[in-house]
Amino acid sequence: MSAANHVEKHSFQTEVKQLLHLMVHSLYSHREIFLRELISNAADACDRLRLKSIERHELAAEPLVIRIHADKDKGTLTVSDNGIGMTKEEAIRNLGTIARSGTGEFLKQLTGDKQKDAQLIGQFGVGFYSAFIVADKVVVESRGLDADQGVRWSSKGDGEFEVEVIDKPERGTDVILYLKEDAKEFLEDYRLRQIIHKYSEHIAFEIQMPKATEEKTDKIEWEKVNKAQALWTRPKNDISDDEYIEFYKHISHDFEPPLTWSHNKVEGKLEYTSLLYIPSRAPFDLWNRERVRGLKLYVQRVFIMDDAEQFLPVYLRFVRGVIDSNDLPLNVSREILQDSAVTRSLKSAVTKRVLDMLEKLAKDDPEKYQKFWDQFGQVMKEGPAEDYANREQIARLLRFASTHGSDATQNVSLADYVARMKDGQKAIYYLTAESFAAAKNSPHLEIFRKKGIEVLLLTDRIDEWLVSYLDEFDGKPLKNVAKGELDLGELDDDAARKEVEAAFEKAKPFLERVKKVLGDRVADVRLTHRLTDSPACVVLNEHDLGPQMAQILKAAGQEVPQGKPILELNPKHPLIEKMQSDMEEQLFSDWALLIFEQAQLSERGTLEDPAAFAQRLNRLLLSQQ
Ligand code: ADP
Ligand code: MG
Repeated sequence: MSAANHVEKHSFQTEVKQLLHLMVHSLYSHREIFLRELISNAADACDRLRLKSIERHELAAEPLVIRIHADKDKGTLTVSDNGIGMTKEEAIRNLGTIARSGTGEFLKQLTGDKQKDAQLIGQFGVGFYSAFIVADKVVVESRGLDADQGVRWSSKGDGEFEVEVIDKPERGTDVILYLKEDAKEFLEDYRLRQIIHKYSEHIAFEIQMPKATEEKTDKIEWEKVNKAQALWTRPKNDISDDEYIEFYKHISHDFEPPLTWSHNKVEGKLEYTSLLYIPSRAPFDLWNRERVRGLKLYVQRVFIMDDAEQFLPVYLRFVRGVIDSNDLPLNVSREILQDSAVTRSLKSAVTKRVLDMLEKLAKDDPEKYQKFWDQFGQVMKEGPAEDYANREQIARLLRFASTHGSDATQNVSLADYVARMKDGQKAIYYLTAESFAAAKNSPHLEIFRKKGIEVLLLTDRIDEWLVSYLDEFDGKPLKNVAKGELDLGELDDDAARKEVEAAFEKAKPFLERVKKVLGDRVADVRLTHRLTDSPACVVLNEHDLGPQMAQILKAAGQEVPQGKPILELNPKHPLIEKMQSDMEEQLFSDWALLIFEQAQLSERGTLEDPAAFAQRLNRLLLSQQ
């Protein structure tokens, strides 16, 4: 190295500074994970080199290894690999910025509460910067494949880093940590082996450490300390739960163990191994459309790419895992994947595996399944629309709040509902509303409460969209209680029907009078038997869009043809009875409008003209004196 070497100073990207600061403070109690992260990066670098060696055989000559070496005299711990390495430009970019989308948003969610932040940072993926939890100085010496010089990157984690060109004879990367005074435990051989065993057993490359020898020699003898076999290639009953869990943490960067997993090796027409996990917690950016998602793709054990989204439908975007195919070519690209028949077959096989795994979880461990639903239920509700072919199986996985329960917890399956259906009940009834409180108190439920018929209460934004793709379950139609005519079987009896018809006939002039007042605000005014306590309710025509759907479409910038509501009046209610006595014109008009407006209010919680409503109400209140 010549003295002329030029040292460049760089500043970390603002986001990196923030993350570094928070990480060092909130992850102290998990600090041993820095080693997992550095080994994981070394393994990624080896994976990428191996992929290159498919076309450039000369690269395959030397085995790929990761070496961990502690130097007690210097107080340093070094993680080395002979993987793909970095050029100077790559080092500046990869070790000075966070390229991931949504980083700013993520940082905003951090609270300063150590526990919560540890959780979030865990989900985000701590990566390389976790080295600063244990080191007060980090030096990275690397030489990229095909680069003719090496680079030294170094930083004290205080907002700046330096880079300089160096001589480095061999390809690959050394990450040298100058351990903090209180982190010297990571110089101990047994401690390092313990951490590697705990977190990195499953790494597919050899992790080597110096052999413990009696006499001091200059030449280090290296020995393998992990199994060095890709986890999913091992037989299932040879793998412990802990190993499955650590592997999950490795591929997902999650701190929490997964809820469940499914490991399958398939031979025959399609040959593949899949290892699929359901996380315990929804990622902070589940709703971000640009969010990376998908499985780690391997072809014949060779790592091909991260986040191959082609193998999972969008509604299963929370699934993590690995797929290792024997049928795809090693030089497969995203473009080839996109329209390959093998991809399509794998996608439908993987989808089925996930749905089966969820069904099994629901059956074997309802409590865990409820946890899953609370985290990912809203996403699963996209299923029937996206994956019509599997809609029956998806329908079995759905959970809803209902009048059977007392709170907003979504824990009623359609099968539970069907099992509780009354004799002669023809449909699965549901109500959609803006909130659980609005649903629970809706006038539409009165008749159902009276008859003891359960109603599903749908209050997620996606629910109307969901039910528009789910017209039946187990041969029973799903019916919105606030749409169209309601037939709960009471009209099956001839005498009863005649009586109702006679009452309706008698009320005709009254209904006409109300209709005249309301004009084109309503499509129709009619009597109803669905109310017991309320004077009125509004219903929609069978094929009109519900308010949630209308909102979604409006937000998407679409013209929404909003159907007019039908006003239904309860003939047994004292207010409606009173309206049918002789009432002068102005008073009748105020009453009719107020009745209509309160029906709308209890349905939607909003009015088109709240001021007019208040004025009318005041006029009536004053006239009572
Ligand atoms: P991630 O691994 O999730 O991409 P990290 O923060 O762990 O994020 O690493 C940042 C980047 O630095 C990596 O994506 C990679 O490009 C580069 N990098 C880190 N360690 C190595 C290494 N040992 N060899 C080559 N590149 C590395
Ligand atoms: Mg990493």
